[in-house]
Amino acid sequence: MQEMEIMEIFKKSGAYKQGHFRLSSGLHSGAYLQCALVLQEPVVAARLCAALAEKFRAEEPDVVIGPAMGGIVLAYELARALKARAVFSERDEEGVMRLRRGFEIGPENRVLIAEDVLTTGRSVKEVIKLLEAYDVSPGGVASLVDRSGGAADLGGVRAESLMKIDVPTFPGEDCPLCQEGMPLEKPGSRKI
Ligand SMILES: [Zn+2]
Repeated sequence: MQEMEIMEIFKKSGAYKQGHFRLSSGLHSGAYLQCALVLQEPVVAARLCAALAEKFRAEEPDVVIGPAMGGIVLAYELARALKARAVFSERDEEGVMRLRRGFEIGPENRVLIAEDVLTTGRSVKEVIKLLEAYDVSPGGVASLVDRSGGAADLGGVRAESLMKIDVPTFPGEDCPLCQEGMPLEKPGSRKI
């Protein structure tokens, strides 16, 4: 799949919108990104994940792990495409990323990490740390969208995405869209 076709799918589902948005960080941006909207159609999700899975097929991952919530659906569809097992990690009461619900993983597994949007790579790094406790070094990180601008530090783990986008953000007092008088929207998600 070409990036342009993928972008069209994102725009059509409302997962990528252009305008003037206030992000949960308080920063302003000209674009809004919500992968849950592109993944809500299983047929579309399966098609995107099949394309993403190809980038890792040679490594033959047998487990795909995604951090909750954003990584759950992605891990599941990638696992389907790779004929692997899908598990997810979640934070405990102390906010530490853990495997719960009886999911098992070990050094015999070839593990791929799934994250819908790669921004700072914070959740992915938490999953890498979790895997270390199980003697697992992940074979890669698969994301639908990489908006990190190459700045995410994943400790040398290979990262592949379907689409790279550059979404500049601005402090409110320094926002060119505010200066143009464009109305400000506040979409209800932290993934923007
Ligand atoms: Zn603004």
